[in-house]
Amino acid sequence: MVYGKWPRELRAVVPAARVVLLRRGADLLKLWHRRHEAARGPEWYFLARDTAKLGYFRRPGATWGEARTPRWAEAEVEGLARRTLIGIERETGWRCPDRGALLRDRDGNPVPRDWFDAPRADNAACPGCGTRLWQADRSRIRRFAPAKFIHRRLRGFVDVAVFDEIHQLGGHQTAAGVTLGSLAAACPYVMGFTGTLLNGYRGRSNRGKRRGQDPSTAP
Ligand SMILES: [Zn+2]
Repeated sequence: MVYGKWPRELRAVVPAARVVLLRRGADLLKLWHRRHEAARGPEWYFLARDTAKLGYFRRPGATWGEARTPRWAEAEVEGLARRTLIGIERETGWRCPDRGALLRDRDGNPVPRDWFDAPRADNAACPGCGTRLWQADRSRIRRFAPAKFIHRRLRGFVDVAVFDEIHQLGGHQTAAGVTLGSLAAACPYVMGFTGTLLNGYRGRSNRGKRRGQDPSTAP
């Protein structure tokens, strides 16, 4: 993770600033928990490009969908307890990745749709069988998951998004370009800095519509 000279210089120039390095998913979750609190002064959050791009966020292993729950009746037949299948109930909810049964709370009710908003102790494992419910997100999206988290869960938390060396952030098909776009869309104001002027292309201050062309592919 490379933050460059920014945090150090910021502390020197704005001594009152609260400088926070976002190093891991837990740091973002802290912000999420205080997302409704007012800032106590200037706050600067630093997200290294590698962190934004190569997130190590997890996603729930449970899937949302319809589950078929067998209903049984207990009866005594010729002196023996027998379980008789009396029907299949169809319910929609979060399903355990192990057997596909619905995840239920202590009262037996299916857990709510927003149960996986964030990793917590109570949603770490299936209440029924103990299967771990959070897994590394191996999908393509994993590569820009922190930016996606900010985009979805911390929209408007930061007033101004500042992108340094914006010319390196690539086209909209690249992970870096998608990162830039989702972060820019989550903040009302966006600034882009670049020291590189090449082939007439220069960094632009915009909202990610044109994410800056990669100078190496410019004609
Ligand atoms: Zn289970």
